[in-house]
Parts: sequence; structure tokens; C-alpha cells
Amino acid sequence: MTATARAACIIGWPVEHSRSPLIHNYWLKTYRIDGEYRREAVPPKEFRAFLQSLQQRGYVGANVTVPHKEAALAWSQPDDRARAVGAANTLWRDGVLRSTNTDVEGFLDNLDACAPGWDGDLGKAVVLGAGGAARAVVYALLLRGFTHIVTVNRTARRAAALRERFGPRLEPAGWDDRNAALGDAALLVNATTLGMPGLPDLALDVGRLPRRAVVADLVYVPLVTPLLQAARAAELRTADGLGMLMHQAVRGFTLWFGKKPEVTAELRALLEADLSLSPGQAPE
Ligand code: NAP
Repeated sequence: MTATARAACIIGWPVEHSRSPLIHNYWLKTYRIDGEYRREAVPPKEFRAFLQSLQQRGYVGANVTVPHKEAALAWSQPDDRARAVGAANTLWRDGVLRSTNTDVEGFLDNLDACAPGWDGDLGKAVVLGAGGAARAVVYALLLRGFTHIVTVNRTARRAAALRERFGPRLEPAGWDDRNAALGDAALLVNATTLGMPGLPDLALDVGRLPRRAVVADLVYVPLVTPLLQAARAAELRTADGLGMLMHQAVRGFTLWFGKKPEVTAELRALLEADLSLSPGQAPE
């Protein structure tokens, strides 16, 4: 790295499991850009001061992961999507410190790549979960024009809070109603942590979905979750969490390093190899 090189980082606490350095450093090497992407472990009480010293530390921007996504929103100038989702994961300097939430386009771009035409029917989608990832997914589906989004969550008041946040196109449903919700859904999304090792299975009857339905899972450890396995066995089209992870990284790289990178099979193979060596999942 030379004195004129650009640098970005991922800020988290903890941050060791993040795959973002692998993604961005792969692109830097591929496009022969003089730059570097590092991990920065920053505890919550030091987060604001770290952001204030970003430029001094030589950073043109940063990704932000757990537990800093809400604080990143508060201490920056967020765009509409970060504000709507209530969390920011990508920061860049542009006179002031700006932020966005790239899980929104990561989710949509991955579906566009894996299941072209998935949005041909903008009727009903079912989203499982009500955390930060579910908020990004719901916002993305509203942007794309879905007219009816059933949000299913274990804790009912969090599903109800999504409707208060995003409006009448959402219908909260109880956890025990998750199978009954599938009948006429064009899209099913798992935005819970279920399916990860050590957590219970989702126990969903994907056979109830129409044959044209698409199934997306945000979990990427394991790469093929029990939900994706069941969906593929039922010959439904699928989109996996690793694809979303790669696509959500595109905007940050473009903002910091001035080149829109491609999500390639080579990048995917690199990440798959890393996941097989250390199969932890960071929220990113
Ligand atoms: P979060 O805020 O902690 O939300 C977790 C969700 O899972 C909540 O809705 C929670 O329900 C539900 N849940 C947890 N344990 C459950 C159980 N035993 N039974 C039923 N529901 C349960 O997490 P998040 O940030 O939204 O992330 C969710 C998942 O998406 C994580 O696996 C994360 O790694 C993944 N993700 C992937 C990407 C990607 O690029 N692929 C991006 C972002 C996130 P309650 O409300 O009832 O607790």
C-alpha cells in the first residue's frame, strides 16, 4: 500500500468472523486498486469517537456491523433507506459522514441474479423474522412493489411493530400460523437466525407454496440450510444468504474505491472455501 492508497474497514464488536475483508480485498486485488480493507474491533463506548477520527485514521469509509448499526445511523447523515430500516451498515465521507443500508439492494440484487423474474407476481410475500435483517427485507419488498407482506415472528409485538413502521401493506401473523400463510405466496424469506447450527429447524411445510414461488434464506452457515434443501427438493427456485452477502458489499466498494465490482463465481468459491474452514456466521 502506498501513501496515496485508500483504506476502508469494518467496525464491529466482535469483528473477527466478518467475511467483508475477504470480499473487499479480493476486489482490490482483482481490479489492481491500491488500497486496503481492515477489521476494526471497537467497543460500543468508543464507537462515536472512532467515527469522528475516521479521516484521521486514513479511512474513506467503513462498514458497520453488530452492535453498531443503530449508532451508525444516529452519528451520520443517513439516506432514505437507512432511515427507513432504522440501521446503517455502510458509511462514506462526502464533506459530511453519510450512511446507507446496503442489505436492501443486497437482498434484491441477489434475487435478480438467482431467480430472474422472481418479482413477476407482486402479490403476496411471507417474511419470517422481525429484526434488523427483516426490516431491510420488508423495505426492499415495498420498494419493488409488493402489495401484501405477511410478517411472521415468534415475538408477536415485534411483528406488529413492523406494520407500525412500514404501513398497511404489512400483515403481522403469529408464529404458529407460519405454515397457513404459505398457500398463495410468491416469495418466502427467512430473516430469522433459525437454520444456523445449534438453533432449531424452522419446521416449515414448503410443499404448501405454489410451484412458481421463490424461497430466500438470509442464513449462510450452513450454505444450504434445511429450508433451502426442502425448497430445492420441492423444485422451487431459491436464493441463498451468501449471495446476499456478496451483493450487499458492492455499493460500499463503489463508493470508497470508485469502481463498481462484479459478484463472480470466483469470489463465491473463495468465500465457500473460507466458510468450510471456519464455519461461523457474522451478521455483517
Ligand atoms: P436479530 O435482530 O437478532 O433477529 C433475529 C430474529 O430471529 C428475530 O426475529 C427472532 O425472533 C428470530 N429468532 C431467533 N431465535 C428464534 C427461535 N428459536 N424461534 C423463532 N424465531 C427466532 O438478527 P438480524 O440482524 O435480523 O439477522 C437475522 C439473520 O439474518 C441472521 O442469521 C443474520 O446473520 C442474517 N443476515 C444475513 C445477511 C446476509 O447478507 N446474508 C445480512 C443480514 C443478516 P424474536 O423477535 O422472537 O426474538
